[in-house]
Amino acid sequence: MTDTLTPDTVVPFIADIFARRGAEEYLGEPVTISEHMLQCAELAERSGASDALVAAALLHDIGHFTNEFPDDAAEQGIDAVHEEAGAKILRDYFPPLITDCVRYHVAAKRYLCATDPAYFGKLSGASVHSLNLQGGPMSALEVQDFARNPHLKDILRVRIWDDTGKDPDHAAPPFAHYQPLLERVVQTHAKAT
Ligand code: FE
Repeated sequence: MTDTLTPDTVVPFIADIFARRGAEEYLGEPVTISEHMLQCAELAERSGASDALVAAALLHDIGHFTNEFPDDAAEQGIDAVHEEAGAKILRDYFPPLITDCVRYHVAAKRYLCATDPAYFGKLSGASVHSLNLQGGPMSALEVQDFARNPHLKDILRVRIWDDTGKDPDHAAPPFAHYQPLLERVVQTHAKAT
């Protein structure tokens, strides 16, 4: 399906996914999946993050829309590996910073659980449950390896927004607010490659 996309069509394609499937449940959290992703983008934007990092926050869970696992995958004890699926559909159109933030946003939770004693206590119940399915906190060796990623700092920032953007009483700006930013990121990347 993604074979037919180009830098000119990928952003409308993603907009369409948000429009058609955004209201789906977010794995036991009190917000829909699109509201969650939009809240993450808003947190990134408000903290003065770069266009690329705002895009990463917005798209970090896009993989939930591309795999064939049902909505309640986590409840059924299946790790849907949405982070890898998401990175794969984005990698032809978005820079490595973004695909790394997407690919490693689950690993980042395992990293933070191993390295920041206060972090675990801030996770939602659903996130603690999925942590167990995802392999639990990283081992010392895994931590060492993960810390070598040149995008580590940004990967961890996206992770913190991911953990925070779950407020059922907050309405984030709509997808259309971020569409020009996404187009800028895609077109800049297309020119550079
Ligand atoms: Fe998320």
